[in-house]
Order: sequence, then structure tokens, then C-alpha cells
Amino acid sequence: MGVLNDVARAAKSIVKGHMVTLREIFKPPMTIRYPDEKPEQPKGSRGMPVLKVNAETGELNCTACGLCARSCPPGCIEVIEETDANGKRMRRPLAYNLDMGKCMVCNLCIEACPFDALEMAANFEISVYDPENLVFNKDQLATIWKNYDAVRIAGGEKL
Ligand code: SF4
Ligand code: SF4
Repeated sequence: MGVLNDVARAAKSIVKGHMVTLREIFKPPMTIRYPDEKPEQPKGSRGMPVLKVNAETGELNCTACGLCARSCPPGCIEVIEETDANGKRMRRPLAYNLDMGKCMVCNLCIEACPFDALEMAANFEISVYDPENLVFNKDQLATIWKNYDAVRIAGGEKL
């Protein structure tokens, strides 16, 4: 009797499994042939933080205040403010470097920026062989902002 019950249970689970296969087999595939086909990135996808360019002036919104760098848990942002010949602060970055090798895409830097200077770009294709190439400078970050969908996310809202 025990053996018959086991056989019945096994047969039932096999039929159940095949029913799932049958149901799914006629649906369109969810996989795509990456990299020939690209996945559609929903607006607000967290690819990497990038520097926003002011549409009117063409300059970065960044004032080099350094709040993003101080808010970044793994410390992957380096900001150096530009100064004039007299040492006066110019309120713009001489250098802005972001190490995507350390970035965990937490969005905290973007939340912290009071000048609407950072956005999260949907770009996720940043694989490299040399980890040193994962450090993006301000020009690269601005170029990615121009070329990819980017959105500011603050308080969980897309702004
Ligand atoms: S990106 Fe924003 S928070 Fe970071 S230095 Fe520039 S202005 Fe300050
Ligand atoms: S997303 Fe998070 S880990 Fe990446 S740079 Fe911003 S604060 Fe740092």
C-alpha cells in the first residue's frame, strides 16, 4: 500500500510539472540575446550616478560642496574644488572622480546633493578588464548623463 501511495504521489508531481511546462511553452521567451539585444531599462533604473549639465549654460550644476562624497558609505567619490590664483574658492569642481568599482548604487549621494547636480543614469554596461578603468572623471560622468536616460531620485521619488 505504501509503495502504491509513493507511485501515485510521484505520478501526480510529474503530471503537475509537465502541466507547468506546457503552460509556459507557448508564452514568448523572457530571455533576450544580449548584447545583440538590449534590455529595456525602466526610467529610474539604478545604473550609475552621473553629473548633470545645466541645459542653458552647458556647465555642471556641481558646486564642489563635497556633500555627496561625505554621504557615500564606501567613499567612492573624490571632489576637488577649483580655486583661483589667490586661493579663492570657485564653487566648481576642478576634479570629480567616481569609482564604480566601489559604488553600490545606493543613491545616497544623489539624495544628499542640494544643487540638483547628480542623477542616476540607466547605463549599466561598464564592465572592464582593468578595475582602474572603473574610475570615471567629471567629463565622462557628464557625457554619460547626456547619452543615457537619467533621473534624480530623492526620498524614493523620481524627480
Ligand atoms: S555633486 Fe552635489 S553634493 Fe556633490 S559636490 Fe557637487 S554639488 Fe556638492
Ligand atoms: S550611489 Fe552610493 S555608493 Fe555609489 S557613489 Fe553614490 S553614495 Fe556612493
